[in-house]
Amino acid sequence: MVRKIIRDVVFLSQPSAPATPEDLGAADDLLQTLIAHRAGCVGMAANMIGVARRIIALDNGGEYLVLFNPEILKRSGPYEAEEGCLSLDGIRMAKRWRSVKIKYQNRDFQTRFKTFTGFPAQIIQHELDHCVGILI
Ligand SMILES: [Zn+2]
Repeated sequence: MVRKIIRDVVFLSQPSAPATPEDLGAADDLLQTLIAHRAGCVGMAANMIGVARRIIALDNGGEYLVLFNPEILKRSGPYEAEEGCLSLDGIRMAKRWRSVKIKYQNRDFQTRFKTFTGFPAQIIQHELDHCVGILI
């Protein structure tokens, strides 16, 4: 189900709770909502659809990924990025890293590790910030 995008900054500033298998339906909604906004959006965190759980969805260069409880283990190559957000107006600057190694869980809640570089790495960092209540 495609859900409404939350723009309430007070809600979005609260850290999300860990995701559990009970959140799989919400994860499907998150992916459907991201795809519905694909013309102007490449990533989304669950709190943007009103679900304060640590789930993110992103367009990884044409392949859609949904990551549960992602966290950054390693990062390298700092730079300043210009970013927008579907929940906010305008473009803002954010400090990002070119490469990030992520630990996350898949839909079966198996732990996985993956290194992302370039734009997908930037998207993940933006969405991980959402999970802890940080807005650009
Ligand atoms: Zn955002």
